[in-house]
Amino acid sequence: MLTEIKGINEECGVFGIWGHEKAAELTYYGLHALQHRGQEGAGVVVNDGESLKIHKDTGLVNDVFKQANFSDLAGNAAIGHVRYSTQGEKGYANVQPLLFHTQQGSMALAHNGNVMNAYELRGELENEGSILQTTSDTEVLAHLIKRSTKANKEEAIAEALQKLVGAYAYLIMTEDRMYVALDPRGIRPLSIGRLGDAYVVASETSAFDLIGATFEREVLPGELLTISDEGLYSTRFAMREQRRMCAMEYVYLSRPDSDLNHVNVHASRKRMGMELAKEAPAEADVVTGVPDSSISAAIGYAEQMGLPYEMGIIKNRYIGRTFIQPSQELREQGVKMKLSPVRKIVSGKRVVMIDDSIVRGTTSRRIVKMLKDAGAMEVHVRIASPSIVSPCFYGIDMSTKDELIAANNTLDEMCDQIGADSIAYLSESGLEQAVVKDKTIHQGICTACMTGKYPVKKTNEATISYTKM
Ligand code: AMP
Repeated sequence: MLTEIKGINEECGVFGIWGHEKAAELTYYGLHALQHRGQEGAGVVVNDGESLKIHKDTGLVNDVFKQANFSDLAGNAAIGHVRYSTQGEKGYANVQPLLFHTQQGSMALAHNGNVMNAYELRGELENEGSILQTTSDTEVLAHLIKRSTKANKEEAIAEALQKLVGAYAYLIMTEDRMYVALDPRGIRPLSIGRLGDAYVVASETSAFDLIGATFEREVLPGELLTISDEGLYSTRFAMREQRRMCAMEYVYLSRPDSDLNHVNVHASRKRMGMELAKEAPAEADVVTGVPDSSISAAIGYAEQMGLPYEMGIIKNRYIGRTFIQPSQELREQGVKMKLSPVRKIVSGKRVVMIDDSIVRGTTSRRIVKMLKDAGAMEVHVRIASPSIVSPCFYGIDMSTKDELIAANNTLDEMCDQIGADSIAYLSESGLEQAVVKDKTIHQGICTACMTGKYPVKKTNEATISYTKM
């Protein structure tokens, strides 16, 4: 049952490359372009065709690789990971990729998402004698693969994936192959690119741009790719279902320069702002956005309203994302340290403050106060996505229902609590309009956190067919 699910939610980033002599170094660069997806830990496993070697630690990509000597990480293939967890399990053991050595060879795994039945699967594995070393659902998959009686690795992986329920993007590497898998709804993003003859895989296309790779295509929902020196093969471990890309990837999580399902993130955010202006115009002098994720929507709102967009709030770039601090008290401190008003811009003005989303209300409350303390006459809060009323079970840190301000308060109550002069959210149809521009290309989004309608059911048995790309 959804309400029983406990686990480590992860907003992580994965990167993989096959067939390049600078695999580890390129993975390191790729992880830089995915750093916004997780700042708690980073790692690379490199493959020289005979063995897999790991370099990982807690901290930012730069810190983790400060001491790394890339000549010690030689190999033609690598997978990498940046990690963000939300439930206290922040130690080294859970930093990915995870690397396993067996008598039949090694296997490394990197994962973005959340396996909702990991707790039950872990129980089953323990009952059968497995002792797991981490609290990560990635390790559960490794055990399921190893226990499979299927004749080859690909079928073993497919069988193991069929046991998972949730949202996930997996990279799995052995000495001779890299496997890439996406959940049957395609809730998490994952794309394939090329760099010369090499294959590249990443959570976001921003990683391709950084290393000069070209985008080939999205990994399809329920698809399992096998990459080796012979090329790339596609198979399916689950029936293809309608894609439900996570709406929060567009609203908040992904980088503006990334394209998800052929939709550019910045452009979609700008359209969210424009739709919001049509739905909830405010009498104001100036529009400002909460940096960085709300800037695109603020530009769209201002453009649609014919108002000036101004940099009314600036961000200290050297402080991590607000949510990294675990307690409410520390979270509030974090916001204060992170954002400052530009007095000359907001003083004496009626300000529209655009934020991409409200979770607990901490950010909005502090920013409204900050803008008013800096002399703003009125602050009208406009949120460029629908209200978040249900927790996310698919890998986004969305807290419990009790903590979600919109789940427990009317709009008027929220306006009071936040101290705004008015507040309005983008409608669900406005969000769809902004993201799902062309239904033939983009099949739809997951809005479970905004609607309480959860798209994931148990995966179906899949027939396996092979096509060469
Ligand atoms: P809150 O302060 O709790 O209302 O959180 C809202 C702020 O956090 C907004 O400014 C968002 O940009 C940001 N945000 C939204 N969703 C998330 C998330 N899942 N993880 C971290 N930050 C988020």
